[in-house]
Amino acid sequence: MASDVTIRCRPHDHIAFPSLCCYCLEPATTTHAMLVRVRNMRTDAHTKLSFAFPVKVPYCETHKQQTELFSRYRLIAIITLSAIAIVLAIILDIMFSRILQVNGLMLWCVNILSWVLLGAGGVGVYQLGRKLLQRRHPTLADYSYSGGLGVTPSLKVVYPQGVPHEPQLSLTFTFRNDDFARYMAALHNTEARAIN
Ligand SMILES: [Zn+2]
Repeated sequence: MASDVTIRCRPHDHIAFPSLCCYCLEPATTTHAMLVRVRNMRTDAHTKLSFAFPVKVPYCETHKQQTELFSRYRLIAIITLSAIAIVLAIILDIMFSRILQVNGLMLWCVNILSWVLLGAGGVGVYQLGRKLLQRRHPTLADYSYSGGLGVTPSLKVVYPQGVPHEPQLSLTFTFRNDDFARYMAALHNTEARAIN
């Protein structure tokens, strides 16, 4: 189960959270900063703004460490696999053109096919690594790439009727922990909506 909590805020507002780990409800001892992005917010007829600002989500020490472990895994895996794929692509390109004497359109077709296979292989290795990591840390199943452990933010720009030149942000958090969502909703005088 999970619950959504939507709050209205202005750009760069400090977002208040209950002082509990959003994943396990132990007292929060630290926070993890997540960047929320605003794209093309219209402030008048001619001006559009895009920017990002941090939201500090409370965690206990264990779950902050796991959040950081998973984002590190993603970063290292993407950099390493991309580097390997580029090197392999260059080697294959040389192999096809020099050794196999494939030229012109045929070389392009063979190259594109090898890039597709390299991409698919990279995704496969990434998923396998994630599965192995998840075996050691089952909480990885609740990790969201656009947020952190147990929480996913999503942001929309709303233009209130009457004052469309004063845009507000509609910030929705999806929490895996329904109790935390309820506390968060109470803090902001709103309600948590259960989702499947
Ligand atoms: Zn925790």
